[in-house]
Amino acid sequence: MTGKTHDLAAFTALALVFVSLPQTPTMSLATAITAFGANFVGGLFPDIDQPTSDLWDNFRLGPFIAKIICPALGGHRHISHSLIGLILIGALSKLLLTVIFSFILLDINVTVVWYCFMIGVISHIVMDLPTKAGVPLLWPFKCKFGIPPVKALRMDSGKFVENWIVFPSLAAFTVLLLYLHQSRVLEFIHQYWK
Ligand SMILES: [Zn+2]
Repeated sequence: MTGKTHDLAAFTALALVFVSLPQTPTMSLATAITAFGANFVGGLFPDIDQPTSDLWDNFRLGPFIAKIICPALGGHRHISHSLIGLILIGALSKLLLTVIFSFILLDINVTVVWYCFMIGVISHIVMDLPTKAGVPLLWPFKCKFGIPPVKALRMDSGKFVENWIVFPSLAAFTVLLLYLHQSRVLEFIHQYWK
């Protein structure tokens, strides 16, 4: 999948979790903004092993750093798209966020930010499942998984099916989801207009 589909999917996953919570979550505005950003980064994060990823293009020195880091991670779609990788990303990001936000005086709930980041990361791996390349969930074992299991039935990243079916469907689904739960969305927004 391309970066834009991954970003949208991360937001869709966040919206799904948001409407599934038993209550409308309350958090500081700083937490909400940081959590949105973390979700966006999480949606692209597993492609950290791909030098051409949109993740790297977001930073000035990104493409340069990517050339050094990507070969060290074993090439595209290896550890960063696996269950072991997911646990490692989860543990390291929690540690990193805790350290970073201990220096920042803003009222930011690290747990909320971390959850939103991980929702993005998980959505990324799920969205790579229907692509031809598949996902090495059990890395370091080489077998790759996909949905459907028959590779020929899966789609090519960035081609017609993704651009004209997956992306618009995901966008429509997200809009519909938020529309159907508009009272919750408004309740969430209203906490910042007191
Ligand atoms: Zn990927």
